[in-house]
Amino acid sequence: MLDSARILQRCDALARHSELPGGLTRVFLSEEQRQTNALVLGWMREAGMQAQVDAIGNVAGRYEGASPGLPCLMLGSHLDTVRDAGKYDGMLGVIAAIECVHALHARKLRLPFAIEVLGFGDEEGVRFGTTLLGSRAVAGTFDPKVLYATDARGISMAQALRDFGLDPAGIPAIARKKDAVHAYAELHIEQGPVLEAEELPVGVVTAINGFTRLAITLQGVAGHAGTVPMRLRRDALAGAAECALAVERIAARERDLVGTVGRLEASPGAINVIPGEARFTVDLRAPYDDVRLEALARINEAFEGIAAARGLKLAVKELQSLDVTPCAERLMAQMDRAVAAEGLRPRRLPSGAGHDGMAMKALADICMLFVRCKHGISHNPAEAITAEDAETGARVLLRFIENFAP
Ligand SMILES: [Zn+2]
Repeated sequence: MLDSARILQRCDALARHSELPGGLTRVFLSEEQRQTNALVLGWMREAGMQAQVDAIGNVAGRYEGASPGLPCLMLGSHLDTVRDAGKYDGMLGVIAAIECVHALHARKLRLPFAIEVLGFGDEEGVRFGTTLLGSRAVAGTFDPKVLYATDARGISMAQALRDFGLDPAGIPAIARKKDAVHAYAELHIEQGPVLEAEELPVGVVTAINGFTRLAITLQGVAGHAGTVPMRLRRDALAGAAECALAVERIAARERDLVGTVGRLEASPGAINVIPGEARFTVDLRAPYDDVRLEALARINEAFEGIAAARGLKLAVKELQSLDVTPCAERLMAQMDRAVAAEGLRPRRLPSGAGHDGMAMKALADICMLFVRCKHGISHNPAEAITAEDAETGARVLLRFIENFAP
């Protein structure tokens, strides 16, 4: 039997281990991570798994199948948080997976494959500015150069690992072989409002959106706000504002495409001076690379038109770009069936946020199950889910596991 009360109790228990009291901040290789790792290890063992902390600080548990050493279905999520985080982003997926194994173990049920549950030590990338460290190590794509990355106090990742009692030289050995992993499945809160709006407790993820991030500078001419007539101005901020509206208009045209101007600065930045320069960012995401790249071309074209019409100099710099991570159709179909078996309407939706699956895709096919969260809020203490939804999510995941066909 799944114990939904225990799922939420355990999320609460992990949330008590925070860098600062009164909130939740737990970063990679911190004392708080050591404490939560110990709790998760205990829960995994109680659920009938063999478990240990691996060389990068992930908690890794294994529940053998009908015979020892079979390839596994890998489940998991992350145990680190952003600053001033919620209790469920990441942790819910680890705890729900352990709960599912617990239910199998209670029935003494062994499946034709092993199950591994990973509690990744770093997904958010808060401490060293590099994300997905735990899952990259398991997927075999960990870049040893990041061992030299330093945190805000100047401590290198290699040193932090040693301080945690781990040996950085052991990281390559935790990479799994492709033929040892059938698939990776992750349960995670939605972090968006779609399921809530449709009154559905769970949804099946189609893809983790690809994204492009730009930094734009518009150069105009600064001048006195009182003396330069409107028709003679080259106002960089007014141009940037028009660009922001263009991003909004272009992104709104395509379903599932989202575009955001999240930062806008103008200089010199005085009340009586026409802005001579404006700098802003664009974050563009979509579940299809061609849709995103087409929108990107249209945005660039719009920016050029706006700059030309206003006599501004335009510079566009691409900061970062990552292609879509698609979920495997065969796994989505199995997850749909598990949702339908719970008497729910299967609903597919893309993930606008990044997840460990982006790294795990290098190792195996992936799929994800989203659980509705209140008002779509995440990365915030207001993050909330109901006990019913946590139970529904875990039940769907358990059905998926029991009926999993590699
Ligand atoms: Zn997360």
